[in-house]
Amino acid sequence: MSNTLFTQVQVLDATGAEPYSAQVLVQGNRIKQIARDGGTIAAEDAEVIDGGGATLMPGLVECHAHPSFINSSSLEAIGQVPPEEHTLITMKHARIMLDQGFTSLNSAAAAKPRLDVVIRNAIEAGDIPGPRMLAASPELTVTGGLGDVSLPHCQRDSFAIICDGADQFRQVSREMCREGVDTLKINPSGDEFVPFARAHQTVMNEAETAAVCEVARSRGKRVAAHARSAESVKMCVRNGVEIIYHATLCDEEALDMLESVKDTVFIGPTIGITIATCFEASDWGVTEEVAANLGFRRELEVAVENMKALKQRGLRVMPGGDYGFAWNPIGANARDLEHFVNYLDFTPMEAIVSATRWGGEIMMMGQELGQVREGFLADLLLVDGDPLLDVSILQDQTRLLGIMKDGGFHKQPPKHPAARRAAA
Ligand SMILES: [Zn+2]
Repeated sequence: MSNTLFTQVQVLDATGAEPYSAQVLVQGNRIKQIARDGGTIAAEDAEVIDGGGATLMPGLVECHAHPSFINSSSLEAIGQVPPEEHTLITMKHARIMLDQGFTSLNSAAAAKPRLDVVIRNAIEAGDIPGPRMLAASPELTVTGGLGDVSLPHCQRDSFAIICDGADQFRQVSREMCREGVDTLKINPSGDEFVPFARAHQTVMNEAETAAVCEVARSRGKRVAAHARSAESVKMCVRNGVEIIYHATLCDEEALDMLESVKDTVFIGPTIGITIATCFEASDWGVTEEVAANLGFRRELEVAVENMKALKQRGLRVMPGGDYGFAWNPIGANARDLEHFVNYLDFTPMEAIVSATRWGGEIMMMGQELGQVREGFLADLLLVDGDPLLDVSILQDQTRLLGIMKDGGFHKQPPKHPAARRAAA
């Protein structure tokens, strides 16, 4: 791994401070030195990248990734993919997300027990390209919960493992830990598209939730929950679930309880999938009217108010929009930052800090990942333009001039601004 010196860059360091012009030296896999205010760095052995005024910022973190979901419109389609093909698809999707500037993924469920684990391991070993990755289990759900696509007369699977009772949840959680997951995913609430387990319904019970959390604690793992109903959010807080996805239908008591654990809990509303389902799914039969009748419009309205409230109360509300379905495909993940600005009253700076600095924290690497700071890991994007003026440029691959992960370029930038402009 060679050393790299970025010159003429605007550093967006993700501390929340305004960008500043600087030179930045990467040595090995870390940011060695930052020289501001016209300062220069002598590094004769380094490859010099003249940024020509481009923005240098931390790589993005996807807080709710599903690299093994297949961009299908049905859950049972995910279950029909054989393991061999599924492994290759997961590998491809991890690569696509890195191509889009996501240098880290926190998985929010794998479609089969070992998909995330083997891809995480292969990336870590340097065998395949991909982001840093925390691997999740499939979604542990109950009979008649989100992900149970069973038919009485034939076998059907989705992305879920069906468990009933604390003992079954405990056993499957232990098996998933044995297989090497970082995160146990549970589905305590339903979802509006599941007629037998709606979003406001809490379908797992306290003992089942407690059993999963007990296994996680004993093995140093984390629990992430699909928790849309107010009661499911409260159950998660009571049992120490650290990653609470959706949290859309919180009531006042749920908001208070979340505030009481604001320093340890992460909130991922996955606003991207809700918006896409409300307005962009008509090609798959989900017209705006159908989505409204299913309850998605109402949920979006309540979610917007609740996320604004949670942000006000100091919680880490993070982009990551459940990309991996037909109308919300993998590769569009950076749209969530724009949604945060348009729907949730985040400034572009706040959306970027959430997707980078807090991203480092959700990756459990907050002391060394997610900011442009001396000593931090060199996961960096060189962006043509200023994402603080228009955060949507992060969705444009041609604006991502360079993508560095762990000190090495996944996407090598042109050496000089002139070459950069010509390339553009
Ligand atoms: Zn999800």
